[in-house]
Amino acid sequence: MVDQEKIKAAVKLLLEGIGEDTGREGLLETPDRIARMYTEIFGGMEEDAGEHLKKRFHVKNNEMVVEKDITFYSTCEHHLMPFYGKAHVAYIPNGEVVGLSKLARTVEVFTRRPQLQEQLTAQIADALMEHLKPQGVMVMIEAEHMCMTMRGVKKPGSKTVTIVTRGIFEENNVLQNTFFALLKS
Ligand code: ZN
Repeated sequence: MVDQEKIKAAVKLLLEGIGEDTGREGLLETPDRIARMYTEIFGGMEEDAGEHLKKRFHVKNNEMVVEKDITFYSTCEHHLMPFYGKAHVAYIPNGEVVGLSKLARTVEVFTRRPQLQEQLTAQIADALMEHLKPQGVMVMIEAEHMCMTMRGVKKPGSKTVTIVTRGIFEENNVLQNTFFALLKS
């Protein structure tokens, strides 16, 4: 469970740490606001992707399923700053599919946690492999990291791209290229 009291105390301390007066009007409600916001943006901590992938439908044709341009917002676990962008998910069924919205739901379970983009990409692919048991999965994430653009190297607009393949997508250039072609169409 998210401990809102702990978050509130920490935010107050953080503001004091940067030399702020936590008693001034604009900051009075800030610890409380952040505690409520964190409950939402880290809500994936208490969620199980398996729940979203439980309801499956039988199919005769095991054609590639692609859900592209899933907009997401996540939080970098190194800086607690946002990173956000698009996730693209593909899988080749093994007789079963899930509702398309469930792919976006699965992405959300893992984005609403402290994350690294590489880890996020792998966790989405692994959850699909585990719960849907398809022949293969491919996940690509393109994201902009505020910890890169707002501070440090300051490269606005630069994107980090991560790709993970599992099952028959691994070392199968034809399938991988079909996925890339579908992303462009
Ligand atoms: Zn970062």
